[in-house]
Amino acid sequence: MIAMTKSQQAFTEAKKVISGGVNSPVRAFKGVGGSPIFFASGSGASVRDIDGNSYLDYVGSWGPLILGHAHPEVVAAIKNGAEKGTSFGAPTLLETELAKRIIALVPSVELVRMVNSGTEATMSALRAARGFTKRDYVVKFEGCYHGHGDSFLIAAGSGVATLGIPDSPGVTAGTARDTLLAPYNDLNAVKALFAKFGEQIAAIIVEPIAGNMGVVAPENDFLQGLRRIATEFGAVLIFDEVMTGFRVSSGGAQKLYEIRPDLTTFGKVIGGGLPVGAYGGKREIMEQIAPLGPIYQAGTLSGNPLAMAAGLATLTCIGKDPAFYAKLEQRSARLAEGLLQNCRTLGVPAVLNRVGSMMTLFFTDQNKITDWNMAKQCDKTSYARYFHESLQNGIYLAPSQFEALFVSAAHSEEEIDKTIAASLVALRKCA
Ligand SMILES: *Cc1c(COP(=O)(O)O)cnc(C)c1O
Repeated sequence: MIAMTKSQQAFTEAKKVISGGVNSPVRAFKGVGGSPIFFASGSGASVRDIDGNSYLDYVGSWGPLILGHAHPEVVAAIKNGAEKGTSFGAPTLLETELAKRIIALVPSVELVRMVNSGTEATMSALRAARGFTKRDYVVKFEGCYHGHGDSFLIAAGSGVATLGIPDSPGVTAGTARDTLLAPYNDLNAVKALFAKFGEQIAAIIVEPIAGNMGVVAPENDFLQGLRRIATEFGAVLIFDEVMTGFRVSSGGAQKLYEIRPDLTTFGKVIGGGLPVGAYGGKREIMEQIAPLGPIYQAGTLSGNPLAMAAGLATLTCIGKDPAFYAKLEQRSARLAEGLLQNCRTLGVPAVLNRVGSMMTLFFTDQNKITDWNMAKQCDKTSYARYFHESLQNGIYLAPSQFEALFVSAAHSEEEIDKTIAASLVALRKCA
């Protein structure tokens, strides 16, 4: 019998006291099989597990760690903050500072509210949209994930898809009825929904670059089309930039594609690795939120000083280097080209979708992946093999085909090249 690793032992222990042994389902490796790795520490692009193995990390806590692990300036900001007290439940200067920073970088945002997670941001933004329009329906796209709020757990990609739960039990039929679905990149489907329910639709919510069915970019006129339709029918256009905000450009996907949504949700990068979310947008909508208006939304730890400090330190570091996103793009392109070249060399059928530092290698013989229907047909068995073989070769990828791989500013060219070499070895198992 092979002795259990410390991670395997830790998982056995965790399962005794934590439901499923994890505090978020995708962490359990159900999408790739096997037992999750328990981490002990991280520094830059590397992480170390409790057995002492090191990996180059391309999960980056699922997106927040655009500067890599334990960036000295982020760590200093958190330490400094902690010494002054960790929470007051009263205003602090850092909240205004981070809000100003967000508003300066994202012109569609005129007023902002801090919350504690991406899930909270999207739930709150939808409530604001419903309260503002006095309508109930929301249009969402198949394969897009907007956190685990009831209204969004319909065809929700990633974790939900990996586990094969189409709709979560516990979401009432009434709530599910208020969520209208369209395929991603399918404007005609959206037009049809509006032709039928236009006067009852409060909002369209979309990942402007989908990351939770694997990376899928918006095609041609998709986002412009959503903007036109929302304006025509008086619905609120919500860009869920929890993943893309400050990731694909300094102003998120909306800057890249030059579209102004009415509301935007943030998370991940703006927390610098601490639990933060935010939502914001048009003044006239945001002024409807309590205490200014009647739409209620609150939070004991919202705007937490440590989280604000970590977020501010992250945005400050990014802002200091005018070439930050250009460098990230260059490293990411190098990785993407290397991965694709390896696939060609070995004859592994694959599609690589990438926008900036987020990308997904889809194992498929389809020639493109532009929506969830295509994404879900990919070869999960090949991905699982690739994942485990990569792990053996010191590369930590997301434990699911339907996730993004993230490159951080801490990934050096040498580390990217090492990753490409390791992937050639791993891909041999998939050929
Ligand atoms: C991660 C994510 C969320 C949920 O954020 P949490 O902080 O995990 O609650 C929502 N929307 C998108 C697009 C995300 O990528």
